[in-house]
Amino acid sequence: MTLSRAFGLALGLSTLLLSRAVDAQVRHEFTAVHMGVQVRIALYAPSEASARAAASAAFARIAELDDKMSDYRPYSEVRMLSHHPGDWQPVSQDLLNVLAKAEEVSRQSGGAFDVTVGPLVQLWRTSRRTRQLPEPAALADARSRSGAALLDLDTDRAMVRLWVKDMQIDLGGIAKGYILQEGLSVLRSKGISAAMVEAGGDIVVGDAPPGQAGWSVFVAGGDTAVLRRARALVNAAVATSGGTEQFVEINGVRYSHVIDPRTGLGVTGTHLVTVIAEDATLADAAATALSVLGPARSSYFRSKFPSVLVSFRLAPETR
Ligand code: ADP
Ligand code: MG
Repeated sequence: MTLSRAFGLALGLSTLLLSRAVDAQVRHEFTAVHMGVQVRIALYAPSEASARAAASAAFARIAELDDKMSDYRPYSEVRMLSHHPGDWQPVSQDLLNVLAKAEEVSRQSGGAFDVTVGPLVQLWRTSRRTRQLPEPAALADARSRSGAALLDLDTDRAMVRLWVKDMQIDLGGIAKGYILQEGLSVLRSKGISAAMVEAGGDIVVGDAPPGQAGWSVFVAGGDTAVLRRARALVNAAVATSGGTEQFVEINGVRYSHVIDPRTGLGVTGTHLVTVIAEDATLADAAATALSVLGPARSSYFRSKFPSVLVSFRLAPETR
């Protein structure tokens, strides 16, 4: 055998081995409960051990972020901010990232998206339970403790200031997206790029599964552009807002669990919105913002985020 022939054979063999290794990427799935919901990770990895190690690291990161951003944990970083009204307070890079994105979405949505709605969300929880609108005095009080102007963000110094006592920052409309996106980043840092992370109907995907055009993501309904894109999704995120199970009817009017900052009450539109964006933080916040704006007031926001695909549809009747 000539040297060049031997070399050629060796090359052929190594190519074969390499393609075998790529083919050997197998789908693995893992689930765990975080943020009060089931979080699901699907990924392609060459071995069970590497898949498991990467998923564990992603879940650990998800748990760490949930600890920081949860409004249910009294000692979460975000809850602790309420304790020092009027003072600049240092925040972690993660909280800063989320608050900066929230501020941008708030600005571009004309205040429809507003993480200072915490006191109104609390009040509205009672209304949803009792099926009674809040007393005017209680509503006025909660409104006096919310509003984008009461929150200052200094991104250069990583500092935050809440202006009045008993404010509450509610990241329920954005944190889940950030947390899912970070979970995906951890997988990528472990060498796993073909992966998806999903929780409570929001989903983020990385590179396509081996040999496929993308991830096929189920979207309950929507316009054709969204449905087509969701069929082969790559490095993008899908979020939905205005979930039907969260509606409440009071005096014949149907309200969402998302707050309309203009009224301080739940949004009265009957629209569900599904959004596809390049990252999950934006997708989550944009879906919430658009569920407040509704189709009629959505055009300015959409012009500011031209790459975001949006689909509105009428919510089915609730009982
Ligand atoms: P889901 O609850 O299905 O994840 P969303 O992503 O739309 O739906 O988030 C709704 C949550 O966002 C509420 O439960 C509340 O915590 C928070 N929220 C409510 N109203 C607003 C608002 N106007 N701007 C920002 N966040 C909001
Ligand atoms: Mg949202």
